[in-house]
Amino acid sequence: MACGRWCRLPPPKPRPFALSMRPFVRRAHASTMECMAEERDYRDALNAARDHALEWTASLPERPVTPRAGIDEISATIGDFPDGPTPAGEVVEELARIVEPGLAGHSSGRFFGFVIGGAQPAAIGADWLVAAWDQNSAMLPTTPGTSGVELAAARWLLEALDLPRESSVGFVTGGQMANYTGIVVGRDELLRRAGWDMARGLQGGPRIRVLAGAELHSTAEQALRYAGLPEAELLDVDDAGTVRPEALASALAAEPGVPTLLLLQAGNIHSGASDPFATLIPLAHAHGAWVHVDGAFGLWKAASPSLRPLVEGVELADSWATDAHKTLNVPYDSGVIMVRDAGAHRAAMSVHAPYIDDFGADAAAPYEYVPELSRRARGVPVWAALRAMGRSGVIDLVDRLHAHAVALADGIGAIPGVEILNDVVFTQVAIGFDSDARARAVADAVLAEGDVWMSGSQWHGRDILRASVSNWRTGPEDVERGIAAVRRAVEATAG
Ligand SMILES: *Cc1c(COP(=O)(O)O)cnc(C)c1O
Repeated sequence: MACGRWCRLPPPKPRPFALSMRPFVRRAHASTMECMAEERDYRDALNAARDHALEWTASLPERPVTPRAGIDEISATIGDFPDGPTPAGEVVEELARIVEPGLAGHSSGRFFGFVIGGAQPAAIGADWLVAAWDQNSAMLPTTPGTSGVELAAARWLLEALDLPRESSVGFVTGGQMANYTGIVVGRDELLRRAGWDMARGLQGGPRIRVLAGAELHSTAEQALRYAGLPEAELLDVDDAGTVRPEALASALAAEPGVPTLLLLQAGNIHSGASDPFATLIPLAHAHGAWVHVDGAFGLWKAASPSLRPLVEGVELADSWATDAHKTLNVPYDSGVIMVRDAGAHRAAMSVHAPYIDDFGADAAAPYEYVPELSRRARGVPVWAALRAMGRSGVIDLVDRLHAHAVALADGIGAIPGVEILNDVVFTQVAIGFDSDARARAVADAVLAEGDVWMSGSQWHGRDILRASVSNWRTGPEDVERGIAAVRRAVEATAG
């Protein structure tokens, strides 16, 4: 582009006396002005984004975690589709003004709702650069910079989670799509082994059986539907929601020889507990099943030497889904699918077209491991988070989240009339009360106050309050505030 060259020069002085030079001078001058406007747009937009982002992160320790304004109020502050252009910096300023009252403290250390991670500084910075670089990171030779970093992130993830190093890795938008990808790879591989060509589609093909623990995550159910597979046959689970080995053994024995997909879980969203992989996976493999593990947050136990025994045998599975936007604390949206058999992974997700194949390198392209073709370099913020923490930092993060969950459960469990319903093996705390109505009232009171966020749920036939410690920023004072908030809510709803 000529732009860079012109913009570095001061605007040329018009030289009216040199008549023959006029057209050239005019053109150069116009171009320089345009270029300066372009640079100003970048500068204004990015500076405004930086200023507002820093204001936001600085406000997190003290601001309420609940939004001040609701969706109707936010929508009402946004005008109609404008007739003409607005300078980039003004747009970002206006955006920040519109959105601020409606922001939830998802990245606050006092956000214990759902399973929501925060965003580490290095990962946010990396994410901004991913946007500015704007690399369509679908193919290796076209974007070697970001692709090289993603390949390193993939290697480091397998190391951190101690999964088979030969596994292929795809960077997807979240746990839902990671589950979808793992399930599609398993489906295609089971059909291939049964001698069925997926070019014919699913109809008329061999039946695939799907088995899963009775408390599988809703996104895994959704993924089965997207993949054209039947609902899972649910296996009996124990008090922590993990699959009973006898249930799997008898289900497998009931229909020998039928291609079977088994969905297991590292991290039940209520108890945090993981299925007994070391027993279940060899059993399933003996029947030729494909085993996919939904480890959206709980797979991260594998990264900690003290928690690793709780997921013993997880490395025996065929595919693993996890989130980077939960436990690893990178900004949304970021999930990861890892598959032991890279060939099966590539065969299921790849697509071919002459205009793409021309760019094929010897190594598989990133797009061949995910449902998308064009994609942002989602693995780059993952790399930045891992680079910033290093091995010891990842272990420390995982152990810290667990320790805070235990402290939260201890404090809340000591409140009269409150009961902790799970063994807090990881980051999840299931909180029970004397009645369902009380549980709902407490959940409402906690949110109405807005100092911490915990969400309601239902588990084992009763209404509960759930707390999840998933944020790198959570510290002992946040835990104390969480306990105090529940105590106040319990007192306010008494009688
Ligand atoms: C969060 C979660 C998912 C879904 O992940 P998304 O990133 O929200 O798509 C799947 N399974 C479990 C166990 C989860 O906690």
